[in-house]
Amino acid sequence: MTKRGVQYFTLSEIEPRIWFMLTGCDFSCRGCFRPARDGGGTMLSAEETLVRAEQACLMHYGQLPPKAMITGGEPTLDREYLIALVKGLKAKGFKEIILMSNGYEIGLEETYASELVDAGLTEAHIDVKAFSEDIHIWYTGKSNRPVLNAVKLLNETGIELLIQTVYMPGSVDAEEIERIAKFLSTVNKAIKHRINPFTPTFAFEEVTRRPTIEEIEHAYKLAVKHLPNVIISQSCYREYPTPPTQETWITVYPDLTSKRRSIKDQEEDRIAWLSKSRAVPEEEILQALNRADPAYLLELGQVIMKNTPLYPAPSTVQKDGE
Ligand code: SF4
Repeated sequence: MTKRGVQYFTLSEIEPRIWFMLTGCDFSCRGCFRPARDGGGTMLSAEETLVRAEQACLMHYGQLPPKAMITGGEPTLDREYLIALVKGLKAKGFKEIILMSNGYEIGLEETYASELVDAGLTEAHIDVKAFSEDIHIWYTGKSNRPVLNAVKLLNETGIELLIQTVYMPGSVDAEEIERIAKFLSTVNKAIKHRINPFTPTFAFEEVTRRPTIEEIEHAYKLAVKHLPNVIISQSCYREYPTPPTQETWITVYPDLTSKRRSIKDQEEDRIAWLSKSRAVPEEEILQALNRADPAYLLELGQVIMKNTPLYPAPSTVQKDGE
């Protein structure tokens, strides 16, 4: 049985659910903010992962939650591991099993999507980072043809699909987002498309600036002409227009030690990662940090409420230290 690096499990304190943070990635996104992409973690088989995840849930919830989110890094790198993990979650009684992926590996193999769904997958969140091949290659290092194919293959299985795109001024602008929405509408008009503003704060490379509220709203208006379910959202932040009072989550490491973490802890981890990967002192990273000011976040929250009053639904978007 193959093994994958597991960085940690995250247990939500807002609603019972567990996140699996798997390490390693097949993309090299310039704006990546996930330390897990660089590998590491504890190497575990799917069976070992399930045992430890179950222990983590029993320790903190006293029972298994109904929902599991599998993320990374890129969770699809090892097909055998992922299928076994999904099967195991279903066998343990998880009702919602959600995969968050860049879609690339799924689109390379005709039967990967259907095997995942047969194993028990109920929902997929796929990043379509760009529609234009040149932009996608520039940003990720890989073609987007397999990603677009993954959207089609997953759609054919009938599971729920949420597509995510980051607005990046100068490359993935409103017109590029409209191209993605147009493509999605040809696949299935019921697909949800979520637009996130680029957040330079913890990006591996500060490729661009944060989009203005007007730019985001313009992208929404172009996309919604093609797809009814377009959502404006926020990446990297607790993204409720009215935030819940709970602002921490429980991180359980593969050795079953645990820690209640907050956004501040997550920031410190990301600063340490950036400092290491760029080989510059943490103080330098801190000085250059480009945090969103509260007024921007407030205004973005108002735009979300105005354009998508029924969304975000808390269970779908709360970040929980992923
Ligand atoms: S953003 Fe996601 S897909 Fe891109 S390099 Fe980072 S972990 Fe991989």
